[in-house]
Amino acid sequence: MNPRPTASAGAAPRPRLGVFKFASCDGCQLSLLNLEDELLPLLERVELVQFFEASSRADEQGRLDVALVEGSITTAHDAQRIRRVRERSALLVTIGACATSGGIQALRNLADVESWKAAVYPRPEWIEVLGTSTPIADHVKVDVEIQGCPVNKEQVLRVLLRLLLGSLPDLPSASVCLECKRRGNPCVLVAKGVPCLGPVTRAGCGAICPSLGRDCYGCFGPAADPNPASLMRQLEAGGLSRADSVRRLRHVNGWRREFRELADALEGREGGDA
Ligand code: SF4
Ligand code: SF4
Repeated sequence: MNPRPTASAGAAPRPRLGVFKFASCDGCQLSLLNLEDELLPLLERVELVQFFEASSRADEQGRLDVALVEGSITTAHDAQRIRRVRERSALLVTIGACATSGGIQALRNLADVESWKAAVYPRPEWIEVLGTSTPIADHVKVDVEIQGCPVNKEQVLRVLLRLLLGSLPDLPSASVCLECKRRGNPCVLVAKGVPCLGPVTRAGCGAICPSLGRDCYGCFGPAADPNPASLMRQLEAGGLSRADSVRRLRHVNGWRREFRELADALEGREGGDA
């Protein structure tokens, strides 16, 4: 698929873009709206077919050149709807931790969702949900994943521009530590002994937290080929409790295999591999 506008006798058709929400907080969609200066020029280059956070226009049927998908699959209706989005889209891009890893709501995957429903809702029988929250890639083919909670808006813009030029984007695979060093930050893990997940977390945020003297808690998800077992051994040797190790791994990207399997192993759950 090449989403570049094609020449024609009249005005060139613009690539058709849709933005879709599943189970999520809307923060990644808001990151798109926060593009501010870039938003109007972008909208001159694409036809915004559906984006309920921004417009009441609803084209539920037409073909899409690019679909941006936020959120995880938590209901049978979600599972049906994402298949329809996939069928009508040449390219499907997932944005954010919910869509790429299942999000914080994937904590339910380790629990009994029926007992949670009974504890939270006065009429739990009205709540129709699956027992799991799963990433979009568990249900349909995904062409590009943009990690982050929320995503970095400049990264989303760069991905969209690359797709509009007809090429696949080049997303970072290195860890937050690389960005941290590029910014000249003192390492908070070394200098303060705080349990920073930067060594196993994917770059892309610009090392926001260590730049403010805080540890990274992994909101951009696992870097390519991370070694969280080694990192957590070091952090526990430095005083982090086992319970806090597991809690750190079971955060917004806790259902990603790279973090989940280690958390399972540390917690002594079956199937985990420390
Ligand atoms: S502060 Fe964290 S992200 Fe920065 S270099 Fe140290 S471990 Fe890596
Ligand atoms: S430093 Fe870590 S926790 Fe902070 S924004 Fe970046 S990836 Fe997220």
